[in-house]
Amino acid sequence: MKKLIVFTGAGVSAESGIKTFRDAGGLWEGHDIIEVASPEGWRKNPELVQNFYNLRRKQLHEVKPNAAHYALAKLETAYDVTVITQNVDDLHERAGSSKIIHLHGELKKVRSTTHPNYVITLDGWELKMGDLCPHGGQLRPHIVWFGELVTEMDRATKALEGAEMMLVIGSSLQVYPAAGLVGMAPAGCKIYLVDPHAEALKNNSRIEAITGSATQKVPDLVEFLLKQV
Ligand code: NAD
Repeated sequence: MKKLIVFTGAGVSAESGIKTFRDAGGLWEGHDIIEVASPEGWRKNPELVQNFYNLRRKQLHEVKPNAAHYALAKLETAYDVTVITQNVDDLHERAGSSKIIHLHGELKKVRSTTHPNYVITLDGWELKMGDLCPHGGQLRPHIVWFGELVTEMDRATKALEGAEMMLVIGSSLQVYPAAGLVGMAPAGCKIYLVDPHAEALKNNSRIEAITGSATQKVPDLVEFLLKQV
């Protein structure tokens, strides 16, 4: 099977009802990104940060995968697919994709502030100050905040080896190091970019830009790719 990489940003989940950050004018659900997604924000007001991610986690129960997530999962019938996502939601999993690398963490997981290898899936949606790991460390959202190390980059870079195709869906390609993965695609790897601003985002002559929303454009692109096999 040909190796195919799906690289997604917040745009793939937008039509499921999870807002992107960049389209909201620099505010994420009304918050400055540094307040809710940085180690400084956590030090300043951990209750606010916990509450912010509690609401994001609760929202996961109210949203569903959309036609783009389902179409991308269908690619596995004909390709060796790895999904590399910047998203912290679980919509690719729920649509049926099986190999997923979450570069920026996962909403449903939490980890210890004192023992970072202690990572668990939270029962329910609420995490509070005072909820501790077995070693006594405060639990925090398992999210890569701005300025923190993207530990999954190594696995993502490795996944690109030998890839013959890459689909970039709903990403502004402005959040680094994640966005750098597109430039790391092997020579000869065909790259498609689906985004309402695809033409403007195309920063590489190897990219074929498809302008439109994920649910409008991804199912047709997937059907086209399934016919190529
Ligand atoms: P981003 O940099 O990936 O930008 C969002 C992109 O989505 C933009 O290019 C926009 O044009 C595109 N887009 C908007 N609506 C679309 C649609 N219907 N179909 C296809 N594309 C569409 O992401 P961001 O919003 O700047 O977020 C930065 C980081 O914050 C993410 O990398 C992620 O870690 C986190 N985040 C996650 C989620 C999620 O898990 N669903 C949502 C918001 C932010």
